[in-house]
Amino acid sequence: MEVLPRFEVVRPSTVAAAIAAHQGGQASRFVAGGTDLMVNLRHGLGTPERLIDLRHIPALCTIATENGGMTIGAAVTLAEILAHPEIRHRYPALATAAGAVGAPAHREAATIGGNLCLDTRCVFYNRSAWAREANGFCLKHRGETCHVAPTGQRCHAAFSGDLAPALLVYGATIEIAGEASLRRVPLSDLYAEDGAAHLRLAPNELLTRIYLPPDPWPALYAKARARGAIDFPLAGVAVALRAEAGEVVGLRAALTGTNPRPFLLAGVEALHGERLDESWLDRLGKLVQKQVSPMRTTLLAAQYRRRVASALARRLAAALGGMTAEGGAAA
Ligand SMILES: Cc1cc2nc3c(=O)[nH]c(=O)nc-3n(C[C@H](O)[C@H](O)[C@H](O)COP(=O)(O)OP(=O)(O)OC[C@H]3O[C@@H](n4cnc5c(N)ncnc54)[C@H](O)[C@@H]3O)c2cc1C
Ligand code: SF4
Repeated sequence: MEVLPRFEVVRPSTVAAAIAAHQGGQASRFVAGGTDLMVNLRHGLGTPERLIDLRHIPALCTIATENGGMTIGAAVTLAEILAHPEIRHRYPALATAAGAVGAPAHREAATIGGNLCLDTRCVFYNRSAWAREANGFCLKHRGETCHVAPTGQRCHAAFSGDLAPALLVYGATIEIAGEASLRRVPLSDLYAEDGAAHLRLAPNELLTRIYLPPDPWPALYAKARARGAIDFPLAGVAVALRAEAGEVVGLRAALTGTNPRPFLLAGVEALHGERLDESWLDRLGKLVQKQVSPMRTTLLAAQYRRRVASALARRLAAALGGMTAEGGAAA
């Protein structure tokens, strides 16, 4: 760990003031819980002159029911999400994902906005400055070569936030505020498949709110991690499924931890209108295996992460369909 760089901290009380306080580029950084940003700064990953603390903006700190759905401010903490009775009842996969982040003390500080805007992770990147320097740094920060895929010119660092897949399968949209703009887009539009530039946000743009639509489908979230707690997902999967008379009439699956962005599984329509049985689960598992692209960015093998993502998707779909992953009836 490095000594923190010298910076000032400003504490605006409105979104407009937070954006106005941003000096552009990387000289200013927004900070919410700081549980990701401060660790990165202690690793020498960035030297901002100004941190703009978002936790004193009341508009970003509320959870509300709106038009039958729910709105969550970007600076709401994961502990607040986990403790919220309506979220737990109506959007249980989101509560599960929030409860799977770090440890209780992290969740008291960590926010939903910070979780969605989390930096991507890689064993060659999330380490001390001297270790990175000894390796000649890497493409994502100060270097010229990617140690994971040395012949390429792309960073494969993985997005490892737990909340995004749950929000994606619920069909969440987000509000983004800029200097002279306010736009509402599907959450999936926030992300790009590039580990060095995975957020489609200008440096002075702020994620302000997350909207959950009404009438959520039954959904579950699960993650695989090296330790049973305080660990990022090696692969995290959310599945939302609607079945009628044993037939699947709606399916969404989303993944994190395997690619530079969290993403909704494509091609799930092919699994609609069919019985949820063992061969259906096999096809879902294969779809996941085809679309995830884990690389050597964690200590565990990429092939393990591919297979565990597939197994988790099968397991969650089976549980939602009321059967075991082996194809029998659930107990
Ligand atoms: C030991 C440890 C274990 C962890 N385990 C997990 C885990 O299991 N799963 C997991 O998902 N995460 C984990 N984390 C990472 C982190 O704690 C969480 O992802 C947390 O939700 C990040 O939120 P934050 O408010 O602390 O973000 P911050 O650190 O404040 O910010 C993170 C990034 O988002 C930007 N940002 C924050 N808010 C906004 C906004 N509203 N608009 C635009 N940009 C914004 C910041 O500029 C920064 O770049 C772990 C961290 C540690 C240290
Ligand atoms: S994937 Fe390559 S470029 Fe990206 S952080 Fe890892 S080593 Fe660096």
